[in-house]
Amino acid sequence: MSDNDGSAADLGWQNARIIRIEPRTATIKSFFFQLPVPLRHRAGQHVDVRLTAPDGYTAMRSYSIASAPDGTDIIELAIERIETGEVSPFFDDVAAVGDDIELRGPLGGHFVWRPADAGPLLLIGAGSGLVPLLAMLRQRRDVDSDTPAALLLASRTWSDVLYADELLVESERPHGMQLRFALSRQAPQRPQDYGRRIDAAMLAEVIGLLPAAPAAVFICGSNGFVNTAADAVLAAGVHATAVRTERYGG
Ligand SMILES: Cc1cc2nc3c(=O)[nH]c(=O)nc-3n(C[C@H](O)[C@H](O)[C@H](O)COP(=O)(O)OP(=O)(O)OC[C@H]3O[C@@H](n4cnc5c(N)ncnc54)[C@H](O)[C@@H]3O)c2cc1C
Repeated sequence: MSDNDGSAADLGWQNARIIRIEPRTATIKSFFFQLPVPLRHRAGQHVDVRLTAPDGYTAMRSYSIASAPDGTDIIELAIERIETGEVSPFFDDVAAVGDDIELRGPLGGHFVWRPADAGPLLLIGAGSGLVPLLAMLRQRRDVDSDTPAALLLASRTWSDVLYADELLVESERPHGMQLRFALSRQAPQRPQDYGRRIDAAMLAEVIGLLPAAPAAVFICGSNGFVNTAADAVLAAGVHATAVRTERYGG
């Protein structure tokens, strides 16, 4: 059985139709795609998206799958507008319901969580770096996993927090994850949250919310964020072999 447990068609390009667009924050929108060939993805994996201009010029970018592996033919991507970017402003400004977009996947075998994996689980994300972590949390919820989990999510302000309502609901559910927000440009909204950039002391506190040292740590965001978070996790005493990272660029 291959890592993706998928057929060859899973990895070929297909024309996926945008069936719904939902603004999430001022700079991030969710795009729901209907797929001719459903993806049998795992939480944490991504797809490649390819845009082709009338003159044949193509641009390709990767986007993590926000949906849990649910066996349907619909996937959700959450795309953040990078002002100077080529592809992400197209999605923000131009892409519309009914458009067909070329997409292939699922891709990535390293940054992947399976419900049977050993816990506790520690998730650390910044901005749109939440997306693959959300897929893990959604699957954890869908299979009613009791693997202890904590999420530390860094954002600039409260209005930049992606999926805030869903995360709060998930954290209050029985077996829900521990949740901490770190806002870098605003005072925290809840007493248990942080009003500063992440650091080793913060990570030590979040790890302390778990019943044991994390067996799996997933860190996702910009290069700088991932470096800082990984250093902080190691400084808090987590073994390097437990840590997996996904870098979005920037
Ligand atoms: C595995 C993987 C999964 C990804 N998943 C997502 C996702 O779920 N949602 C999402 O919004 N993006 C995601 N990305 C980032 C995405 O692939 C693009 O890099 C991003 O959309 C920018 O593309 P662009 O064409 O708009 O900008 P580009 O034209 O590629 O870049 C323009 C400028 O912006 C800088 N830049 C690129 N990305 C960032 C960034 N994230 N932050 C700050 N500056 C940046 C570049 O260095 C460059 O200087 C993922 C990347 C990888 C590798």
